[in-house]
Amino acid sequence: MILGCHVNFGIEQLLGCAKQATEYGANTFMFYTGAPQNTIRKPLDQNLILEAKTYMKEHQMDLSHVICHAPYIINLANKKDKNKWEFSIQFLKNEIDRCESMGITNIVLHPGSAVGLTHEEGIQNIIEALNFVLRKDQTCNILLETMAGKGTECGCNLEEIKQILDQVGKEHVGVCIDTCHLNDAGYSLKNFDSFLQQLDELIGLDSLKCVHLNDSKNECGTHKDRHENIGFGTIGFDVLLSILNHPKLKEVPFILETPYVGNNKEDKTRIYPPYRFEIMSLKNQTLNQNLYEDIVSFYKKD
Ligand code: FE
Ligand code: FE
Ligand code: ZN
Repeated sequence: MILGCHVNFGIEQLLGCAKQATEYGANTFMFYTGAPQNTIRKPLDQNLILEAKTYMKEHQMDLSHVICHAPYIINLANKKDKNKWEFSIQFLKNEIDRCESMGITNIVLHPGSAVGLTHEEGIQNIIEALNFVLRKDQTCNILLETMAGKGTECGCNLEEIKQILDQVGKEHVGVCIDTCHLNDAGYSLKNFDSFLQQLDELIGLDSLKCVHLNDSKNECGTHKDRHENIGFGTIGFDVLLSILNHPKLKEVPFILETPYVGNNKEDKTRIYPPYRFEIMSLKNQTLNQNLYEDIVSFYKKD
């Protein structure tokens, strides 16, 4: 089982990420190279990359399972503002370079939002942009994430993802499915086998390189995109556990992006990471009903 979570790329960069993942009991992780909502990026420290690689070897973590997530302000779907669109393209190119210099092989990207354009126009812009971004000798794949269909998001069904892949090629582009997004987009995960079959027929299972494992606060088909802690949402623990343990997904990294929790249920400050306890639940194959309380009491001590 390859299971990890979102971690912070702080002052220790990749090394700090690997240490955090270890603390949570994870054997992989996903990170943004800076704040997810902006494009300010610090230069990479080569010594920290080397230290991270050594640390990961010692902790049986495989760099090829590690995922980078592009910042969500990158929008390849809309080129009404040409400068913004070109900035997104350039930023993504730089992000790929950054990943390659760390040895990271997969970067997750939200396909983009059409804002004011039709989905079809948005998708054509994404295809055009990706064809600018992709290099023949690239060692890092771009994984298109399946979206919830909030607002004007493109890529909220497998057909749209397939359309993009068909036009840009599968050599350097793959797919990341997000269980919360799939649910919110209208795919019932209670019948996950039939979903996987559909994915295999349309895109090919070999293109599936990452799963974001999240519960959802909303019912299937509501196009909301609000993640919930594992076992406390509408998808439920058993369904998520069966996806994690699916025999066809043994080689695929699973990443938790569930919400942080506050001091009590009403507290929205969200300061404590849930991952250590969610990973424990998933490994034990039993939902911890006291997840919330356990997280708070664990972190409040120090
Ligand atoms: Fe995402
Ligand atoms: Fe996600
Ligand atoms: Zn989401």
